[in-house]
Amino acid sequence: MSYKKLEGTTWTPGGEFIKIDPEICTGCKDCVKVCPGGVISMVNEKAKATKYENCCECASCWFVCTIGAIRFSWPKGGTGRKYRWG
Ligand code: SF4
Ligand code: SF4
Repeated sequence: MSYKKLEGTTWTPGGEFIKIDPEICTGCKDCVKVCPGGVISMVNEKAKATKYENCCECASCWFVCTIGAIRFSWPKGGTGRKYRWG
């Protein structure tokens, strides 16, 4: 599946701000399905954030994982997604 590039935005790498605990993850793939950027992949039947450069920081993955396997924090200041219009 391909994803539309986020026009009008820039991305600055800033570390792994989405941590998924493999001990808690059941591999249900809900976070993979809900992510609009294809950021999360299944690795050894556990979810893992791999394509941060496609992340729009919507936190839908964190919201959909009701068992709390995902720890989401915003990228550090000066990194992450910057939108041209504010
Ligand atoms: S929604 Fe939660 S439990 Fe399901 S695959 Fe994603 S991290 Fe794992
Ligand atoms: S914050 Fe949004 S775009 Fe980023 S990984 Fe989670 S669901 Fe995907």
